Amino acid sequence: MDKIKAFLFDLDGVLVSTEYNHFLAWQRCAHSLDIAFTEKENERLKGVSRADSLKLILELGNKPISHSEFEALLKSKNDFYLESIQSLNQAHLLPGVLPLLIAAKNNGILLGVGSSSKNAHFILDKLDISQYFEVIIDGNGVKDPKPHPEVFLNGAKALGLHPSACLVFEDAASGIAAAKAGGFTAVGVGNPNIAALADIYLNDLTEFRVAQYA
Ligand SMILES: [Mg+2]
Repeated sequence: MDKIKAFLFDLDGVLVSTEYNHFLAWQRCAHSLDIAFTEKENERLKGVSRADSLKLILELGNKPISHSEFEALLKSKNDFYLESIQSLNQAHLLPGVLPLLIAAKNNGILLGVGSSSKNAHFILDKLDISQYFEVIIDGNGVKDPKPHPEVFLNGAKALGLHPSACLVFEDAASGIAAAKAGGFTAVGVGNPNIAALADIYLNDLTEFRVAQYA
């Protein structure tokens, strides 16, 4: 294996979790239609697209709505979500993130983010960690979503490195697949379902030892 010179991170589920923010946004939409919606119902929405999530909620409430109402609700959901992530701050970082970023910097390792989120820059600023990253590739600059490796390949290229010199940290199967397809070493984090797919698996980032790569 080549010497590792950079770490590339997925954002949601690795550095921060905005799952609860998505839940609150869906709950506001459901309540606006008088549909009961708790974390129990929210379980069914995990990994489901925005439009399909709304269809599920409407099924739950047995509330048929018009196409234009459907489109308006999709927009409301995103607006509610954007509103709720306004209050993110460094306390919302997942365990081990900040010590890892600091240790990596102290050891001369380059850092990047490769996220499908169009809000990645905004969220990183709110978390007050943008300054740690040499490169941030978000959903705005990428043609092919994960499991295509484009987002991570763009990150490695921007750092002037071959994928074999980069670790990719991911919590989703599609992200691990993207990393492997791109020729990266894939570190799975916090999702037991991907443990067998990843090259290295960690329950959370507190288990990661930067010194191994120094
Ligand atoms: Mg993720």
